[in-house]
Amino acid sequence: MKLNTAAMRYLSSDDFRVLTATEMGSKNHEVVPTALIVQIAGLRGGAGVGNCISELAKANLIARVKNAKYDGYRLTYGGYDYLAIKAFSNRRTVYSVGNQIGVGKESDIFVVANEKSQKCVLKIHRLGRISFRSVKNNRDYLRNRQSASWMYLSRLAAQKEFSFMKALYENGFPVPEPIDYSRHCIVMSLIPGFPMRQLSSHEDPSVLYSSLMSFIVRLAEHGLIHCDFNEFNIMILDEPKSDDEQFVVIDFPQCVSVDHVDAERYFQRDVDCIRRFFEKKLGYVSDDYPLFKRDVKRVARLDIDVQASGFSKKMVKEFERAISESRENGEGSTNHEDVDELRDDDDEDDDEDDNEGDDEQDRGEGDEEEENGLLIEEGTLPGHDGRGQGQHSDRELI
Ligand code: ADP
Ligand code: MG
Repeated sequence: MKLNTAAMRYLSSDDFRVLTATEMGSKNHEVVPTALIVQIAGLRGGAGVGNCISELAKANLIARVKNAKYDGYRLTYGGYDYLAIKAFSNRRTVYSVGNQIGVGKESDIFVVANEKSQKCVLKIHRLGRISFRSVKNNRDYLRNRQSASWMYLSRLAAQKEFSFMKALYENGFPVPEPIDYSRHCIVMSLIPGFPMRQLSSHEDPSVLYSSLMSFIVRLAEHGLIHCDFNEFNIMILDEPKSDDEQFVVIDFPQCVSVDHVDAERYFQRDVDCIRRFFEKKLGYVSDDYPLFKRDVKRVARLDIDVQASGFSKKMVKEFERAISESRENGEGSTNHEDVDELRDDDDEDDDEDDNEGDDEQDRGEGDEEEENGLLIEEGTLPGHDGRGQGQHSDRELI
């Protein structure tokens, strides 16, 4: 996915206001009527707003919907990316965006840095991209609920992943440190390591195997099953802390509670994934592997705690329906591509309202598939060396 930052950097505060108004309007309008955008933005003078709208459309942050009964716009992925990254920037969790390190079927992963130049990972959820079919399959259900757009589902995925990661991190599980989230994006610590699928030999596979199996059991004892526990989602640390601390587990949006009707099946599938990988790639076979009914003794209820922390039962249900197809496919999904150039950002404060209520509703997007993500183009951005400083005066920089 290409990235175009020129747009990100040179938005005026009025442009930003209009973009935010479009986002707010899309909570209950599939296509936000221009008049509503003008009203929410609260800017005086129609011509001014018109200019903002055409600037935003030119930059692909919003898109005109031609077939609508009325004149209107919808937010694009690029616009949604912009708003999330802007929120991180305002909260000082992201200062610059660097290389893309992963392209999954439902996410884009970038290395980012904060003001102290500490590197982190930005994960942008893109649920409408490939699993759009599953969204369509659920369309009747979703139409009734009026809440199934890519925006809504991607936001649920981010929120779910962040809540689970936080609960696990706080309970001492080897997962990245969750740092921030906004909309469909999360920021987490960068794991210095590589996905286990790159492992072709290991000096003592039995130790790694046992600690992976212990992880699965301990996770279940805390109330959760990963459901995509495979060599793509296990990062092997470059410098293991000890025999028992060789890896970090990532990628949690499809996690389920041990109370799920298919819990046992998902648990055994996670176990089998590891057994298969060890046999095929490392030539290691063991008869010793955990069984859900025999080995899992409930000691904590992170599944319940996470619900209490904001990822409600209703959200779990909606999300599960939407992603059930991709969970059934169950295989690792990530390609690894190094793309595009390093991008540095300057930032400036701007009040931004990131309060999105639980009952926020976005409508289904019909047959349209979003293509425009956050765009970063090579060499378009001023660096930390001050080349871009002058733009502070009348422009918003993220
Ligand atoms: P997806 O849901 O698309 O599979 P993942 O969360 O699994 O996304 O991330 C995709 C890839 O990005 C991983 O396989 C890994 O290479 C890289 N990655 C993701 N998170 C991190 C992280 N915190 N630190 C280092 N690399 C990461
Ligand atoms: Mg993954």
